[in-house]
Amino acid sequence: MRSTTRTIKRVLQVRRGVPPHWVGDGFHVRTLLSYDEAPAAVSPFLLLDHAAPRHFAPASHPRGVGEHPHRGFETVTIAYQGEVEHRDSTGATGRIGAGDVQWMTAGAGVVHEEHHGAEFTRTGGTFEMVQLWVNLPARMKMTPPRYRAIRASEIPTVALPGDAGQARVIAGSLLGTDGPAPTFSPVGVQDLRLRAGRALDLDLLEGHTAIVLVLRGRVRLNGTDELASDELAVLAQQGDALRLDVLEDTSALLLTGEPLGEPVVGYGPFVMNTADEIRQAFADYQAGRLARR
Ligand code: MN
Repeated sequence: MRSTTRTIKRVLQVRRGVPPHWVGDGFHVRTLLSYDEAPAAVSPFLLLDHAAPRHFAPASHPRGVGEHPHRGFETVTIAYQGEVEHRDSTGATGRIGAGDVQWMTAGAGVVHEEHHGAEFTRTGGTFEMVQLWVNLPARMKMTPPRYRAIRASEIPTVALPGDAGQARVIAGSLLGTDGPAPTFSPVGVQDLRLRAGRALDLDLLEGHTAIVLVLRGRVRLNGTDELASDELAVLAQQGDALRLDVLEDTSALLLTGEPLGEPVVGYGPFVMNTADEIRQAFADYQAGRLARR
């Protein structure tokens, strides 16, 4: 039973009209979230890129982005359509397809490459994915790197109240169902499919970050702000409730998490807590000390 003392998480910021850019030659993305503006408001999240559905013709070589390093956070790739292939300096390789998620902990450091899958490259087709960067707590930034491919079949689906649709629980907990992703701090990643004409009231945690991305469709948040395709809202950490009025059939991503409350200093592919640690990351990368084998 909902109590009358619940407080709506206010919409702080809506990101819309963001122009797309290419990452390598395979990922045509809009950066809808970036930590450089207000890192505390979006913590523990750092960055979100959405590659909206785009057709790729058959090709002889996989499109994508070649070797580059990361340190200090996790990269989470959610494949909606098409295939993403990964290879990194720990020796991990993997290919994810529609509905699958790649959860890579860069930690102390990896060098990796990300491309379209071989089969997708051969046949061509529609490609859509989200890549999310999740920060690591300071004490875990130098944790050994690891790679995990989470198959669609491992991701539980829960029915949303009010016949509002369903959610795939990738990380964290929603309505008593836990997601399979191994996280280092409280993080929720929920893939929502919402039905036009329904309303969804969600209880969220007071003090936690909440972010809503609409991939396709249209919703109204808290009776005020409308969010359409490729638009993202950052909600206030204060408050413990969210209301979504579903104006069209909608595919959305709900991100929640406990703010880390630590300094964020990033440069390019490295996100640490101090400028010295960034300098060290560059030195370690240039000396070939990021998980080589
Ligand atoms: Mn990368």
